[in-house]
Amino acid sequence: MKLPESILRPVKLIRGGMHLDHQKNTAECETVIMPTPSTVYIPLSQHIGAPANPIVKKGDNVFVGTLIGEAGGFVSAPVHSSVSGTVADVKDLTIGNGTLQKYIIIESDGKMEKDPELKPFEIKSFSDLAEAAKQCGLVGLGGAGFPTHVKLSPSKDVEIDTLIINAAECEPYITSDYRECVEGLKDVIEGVYLIKEKLGIKKVVIGVESNKPRAIELLMQVAADHRDADDSVKIMKLPSKYPQGAEKVIIYSATGRKLPAGKLPSDVGCIVMNVTSVATLYRFITTGMPLVSKRITVDGTAVSEPKNLLVPIGTPIKEILDFVGVDMENVDRVLMGGPMMGNPVVSCESVLEKRNNAILAMRDKKPQPQTACIRCGRCADTCPMSLYPAMVETALRTGNKESLNSLNTNYCMECGCCSYVCPAKRPLTQVMRTAKAEIRRQSK
Ligand code: SF4
Ligand code: SF4
Repeated sequence: MKLPESILRPVKLIRGGMHLDHQKNTAECETVIMPTPSTVYIPLSQHIGAPANPIVKKGDNVFVGTLIGEAGGFVSAPVHSSVSGTVADVKDLTIGNGTLQKYIIIESDGKMEKDPELKPFEIKSFSDLAEAAKQCGLVGLGGAGFPTHVKLSPSKDVEIDTLIINAAECEPYITSDYRECVEGLKDVIEGVYLIKEKLGIKKVVIGVESNKPRAIELLMQVAADHRDADDSVKIMKLPSKYPQGAEKVIIYSATGRKLPAGKLPSDVGCIVMNVTSVATLYRFITTGMPLVSKRITVDGTAVSEPKNLLVPIGTPIKEILDFVGVDMENVDRVLMGGPMMGNPVVSCESVLEKRNNAILAMRDKKPQPQTACIRCGRCADTCPMSLYPAMVETALRTGNKESLNSLNTNYCMECGCCSYVCPAKRPLTQVMRTAKAEIRRQSK
């Protein structure tokens, strides 16, 4: 279908960033439902903020979607059972990133019975939308894990004029959001219009990278729907340039506004939602089923048959890799997320969380040795935030607190571009992370 160009929104281009090899090997792989695991280990802290508080005990029977942990505060999120079965235990484990945290362990009965109490959520007012996101247990699904209901509860003093739907998916390998656009298009379309209407937002911008022409065409049909009189839903065809999908970057591309360090998108008049979050919220509102499973991409240099899978939250990573036929003898590194911003998996006993969108099993080339900085300036040239990572490294090493602040270190979004381009293989992203932690320590 030929759609009018007026549906496209012009893009404000960022400086820096990089053109990476996309490796979207699974783009046309339809999502496969993974067999139900015998046991799931559901962490009570899968989000930014306070952990959820358990409300079930050993021996309790649960269904798919049963509330098992209540939000531990405003910046927190509830958790739900991803299988039907029996609670085997509620205890502290170190199976995640090595730190102790509480898990609810559920033995599956293999039936995957839905909780009979689940019912559609009625939205009558603006605040009901945030309440729906909260009861859904929805958090940022693109990796950050920020509770969505907080984003949907902006201060009354700020005016929100733009809803940005982030479908950029700029990290190599990952195609889970793309598959949501293809397989869950109806939920995306309905979700976009529902959120727009309930929040009373004037403009909607859906950002997709140019390397996903099918998603662009499908999403242009959302805008072509012309449900609103002023045609205010636009598609933003983004350059295929990493880190185009980072929150600060997509806000700038859509509006030209710069998000200050430590501020929320609502402080610059925007709400940013990942495309899968929009579809998940719509499914919760219409069915009552909260966030209990995730579509993930399983790929990487050690994976011979990459796949997109729908996996119950709390499934051990090892079972997922086994299902895809990965030979762990050939794996040097497993990442949760993409190769640029993903977190290394400390142990394959770790489990799938709400915020994970990919598991990459990598066979690494021999690492090149780190050498001294040659002052080439490439790290500064590529930084989308216009920072000077080499100077931050010097300030950190010499303990120059004033420089750490004056170099705007806190603006770093840990995208990894500087480390990637550095010919001396300096661990600059780690340096920036340490420098930000040092600034936080000083401010206390
Ligand atoms: S990690 Fe930080 S300093 Fe490095 S390029 Fe990204 S934003 Fe810039
Ligand atoms: S890219 Fe590496 S070698 Fe070049 S200035 Fe930055 S830290 Fe130094």
